[in-house]
Amino acid sequence: MSTVDPLRWDLSDLYSSTDDPALAADVAQARERAEALAAAHRGRVAGLDAPSLRALLADYEALLDRAYRPMSYASLRFAADAGDAAVQALLDRTREAMAHLSTLLRFLDVELKTAPTEVFERWLAAPELEPYRHYLAASRRYAPHTLSEPEENLATMKGLTGVAAWTQLFDETLAAIRVPLTVEGQELELTVDEARALRSHPDRDVRARATRAVLAAHAERAHVLNFVFNTIFQDHRIELGLRRYASPMEPTLLDDELPASIADALMDTTERNYGLAQEYYRLKARALGLGDFSTHDVLAPLPGGDKKIPFAEGRRLVLEAFRDFSPRFAEIAERHFDRRWIDALPRPGKRGGAFCAAWSPSLHPFVLTNYNDRIDDVSTVAHELGHAVHFSLAGEKQSLLNYGPTTPMAETASVFGEIVLARRLLLEERDPAVRRSLLANRIEDVIATVFRQVMYTRWELSAHARRAEGVVPADEYGAMWRAQLDRLYGDAVRPGELDRWGYIGIPHFIHSRFYCYSYAYGQLLVLALYRRYLDEGDRFVPRYLELLGGGGSGTPEELLARVGIDLREPGFWQRGFDALRDLIEEFRAVV
Ligand SMILES: [Zn+2]
Repeated sequence: MSTVDPLRWDLSDLYSSTDDPALAADVAQARERAEALAAAHRGRVAGLDAPSLRALLADYEALLDRAYRPMSYASLRFAADAGDAAVQALLDRTREAMAHLSTLLRFLDVELKTAPTEVFERWLAAPELEPYRHYLAASRRYAPHTLSEPEENLATMKGLTGVAAWTQLFDETLAAIRVPLTVEGQELELTVDEARALRSHPDRDVRARATRAVLAAHAERAHVLNFVFNTIFQDHRIELGLRRYASPMEPTLLDDELPASIADALMDTTERNYGLAQEYYRLKARALGLGDFSTHDVLAPLPGGDKKIPFAEGRRLVLEAFRDFSPRFAEIAERHFDRRWIDALPRPGKRGGAFCAAWSPSLHPFVLTNYNDRIDDVSTVAHELGHAVHFSLAGEKQSLLNYGPTTPMAETASVFGEIVLARRLLLEERDPAVRRSLLANRIEDVIATVFRQVMYTRWELSAHARRAEGVVPADEYGAMWRAQLDRLYGDAVRPGELDRWGYIGIPHFIHSRFYCYSYAYGQLLVLALYRRYLDEGDRFVPRYLELLGGGGSGTPEELLARVGIDLREPGFWQRGFDALRDLIEEFRAVV
């Protein structure tokens, strides 16, 4: 009898075990190839003509393809069982091998970046290098903002006692907070994360006290934490000057390969639609039977959200949702279930959360989830399989360097997967309470990922601008936060006195500035694309598949333009909100 567990993944497409001789052979071969490549080309890249550079890039891809296999096997095994000593040892070895490889190959990156402009222009114009044009252009995008080597080294070294130290102080101060709270008769000492989780508690009094307790803890430490904000924002300002950036958000836009005008249009359109969020909260207040609606009610749960869906049923729902949209989507997702490329259930030693891992077009993706029968878990499966579809379609058309989607396009298929699943769930659900809760989840998802992120970004922009004029007291940053909150909520949500301390609780401002913007962009793009699908019907599907097949072979604008979508078209972003308005109307009908 076979004892194969259909819900555990099968990694044998990679290797049979940690001591599979093929694994050691791949490590050795990747290293030999890297050494040969470095010996042949280090110090000579700028002298290459287009055909030779193309050959070099193809060799580079082939050796990375080899090198990624042992690394991916080790990290997948580790994700599934962190306690296995043989796996830990393998992960250690493969990490070391990868680090060695990057050292050997760093020359390529550096020499592409520093090749004389006329050489680089010739490469970009050469038909032989057409497939690598985006890769080449992207590799140079930071060049005008890169300092000399000794300056870069100095900046890195001083950064350890500078930004890195301030960031650590911020993290440690927040992590040390214990919030005293009595819940259901029990006196608890909660971490900030635990207390924040209670903001979605069914008992309004618990929600209110948890919200206030977290904000009060921020207020108490505002002296230190606001000092960190001031220091890090000032550091950013100095760095912008040294690296010749024109505005605080420019480095993020460069990362995302997006022009500033598109970012502005996105932000403005979102703010013009804040009224939709307000409309929703008024309806939610009615659904909860609340006369006044406060910030601690924003995350209140509606009844019906705790429906259970076993894995087999979740699988059926995801596949049918995908099939409704496109048989190709369903076929790829089904393959992941049938051939056991998914590790589905939680178990001891397995890491939490979920991911879709894909390294190279020569190998299919693997998906890990911790399915626990909740509606959210079905949604996670749809999300990760959306990624898998994206990678699979890109893998059919792209070589390794063009394979992975660029950051702001990375969630294009995953969030789309969630949306089509939500449609399917609504279509099948008969229980009005569950339907209402499903709609609320979708809408609140959009509010959290688009509206709130834009609100954060607006505060962040104004906070950086204000810092340029001098040190900013905590009270003032707090007042600016409150002003943004009032803009978003209008008179639909009543903030409390402590709400102005909310800015202190957003670690992205410290860790990865303007990340919130990228997030809003990714989410709203998918909503706008989905609305396009609703408008155009099946005609849209092949273009969408082609967009996904583009992988990372262009900037977001180029990839979308190839399928006839113009991000600069006035009204493009509004489509996303039209989709939201439809959802809110459906919600109104069931309240
Ligand atoms: Zn994702």
